[in-house]
Amino acid sequence: MAVDSLGKRMKTMFVFTVDVESRAHGDPRSDILGILPDYEERYGIEKIMSMLEAYQVRGTFFLNVYEAAKHGEVAVAGAARLIHSRGHDLELHSHPQPMYPHYGMCHAPLVNQIAILNKGISLLESWTGKTVLAHRAGAFAANVDTLRACESVGLLADCSLSPGSLVSVPLVHELGVSNLVRRIGKVWEIPVTYYHQLRVGRWHSKRILDIEGSSLPEIKRVTRWALRQSLPTVCVLMHSFSLSRHGKPNRRVIRRLSALLTWLHKCDGIEIGTIEQACHRLDQNAIPKVISGEPSTGLLLTWGRALLAWNDGWRNRLVAMTGMTGLAVLTLVLVYLCLTLLKH
Ligand SMILES: [Zn+2]
Repeated sequence: MAVDSLGKRMKTMFVFTVDVESRAHGDPRSDILGILPDYEERYGIEKIMSMLEAYQVRGTFFLNVYEAAKHGEVAVAGAARLIHSRGHDLELHSHPQPMYPHYGMCHAPLVNQIAILNKGISLLESWTGKTVLAHRAGAFAANVDTLRACESVGLLADCSLSPGSLVSVPLVHELGVSNLVRRIGKVWEIPVTYYHQLRVGRWHSKRILDIEGSSLPEIKRVTRWALRQSLPTVCVLMHSFSLSRHGKPNRRVIRRLSALLTWLHKCDGIEIGTIEQACHRLDQNAIPKVISGEPSTGLLLTWGRALLAWNDGWRNRLVAMTGMTGLAVLTLVLVYLCLTLLKH
């Protein structure tokens, strides 16, 4: 376990980070509040907050305030107040396009990035009175100018570094791939945790730690690795719409979140916290200088996850079928070898 400058043992902080936003063809009622046709219960941010509160913990909710220009200020401000009033950590998520001509932060020059952040912060603060401390770029589309912009507007943290996401973004190339918190100027860069799902020689396939895309055994394995490495933070990605799918509750993800919370609650050396809490506790002296390797989940866990997610797209079906074919071939080879040995 890492030790801070006062000699205190530091726990690894596990942070549930939730991007609160509407999808391209969605709206805040379904994608943020989780109001589904035919269901009385809501499966959006309120349910996520309730599940965290059942363990007396809070999450960090990055709210895309810019969609107020598309869906109206009432809906987005309402979500902000809901999050803040329940004591969760309300922070800024930037998909600037409804208000600015830039798809992502990294597509805007520094001066415009500063203007975008100032606008977002002033909206959040005017709706709730909350002092905004952190930012996550939409689609992780950040670059080092984004960190300069964060510093310029007085933010303490940025959570846009996501080495495991499929999209290629400048920040990952500029800062390098890492699961370790870093201080860039006056801003903490707190990465979204990633892992290697498969490794063959020097080739590897990276994956983001995501409540929808990672299985419980994968999340546990990565968290145990982080504990062994004394990592200050583990960040899992969620969305306001993570608990529903195609207009129905996503029971599998709900069960996974519940089981993860139960496991983390009992896990020695782990503390569930928020980005705001991390900002106040991070200590440069307690951060490991180097970590050995990367977390790896391997063939069996990847196959297991694909089998569980059979209905969630062709990639999962391909991985599941490849695994089954491999297992069938292995069984046939073993049977053949046994029969050959028996004959002799
Ligand atoms: Zn987003």
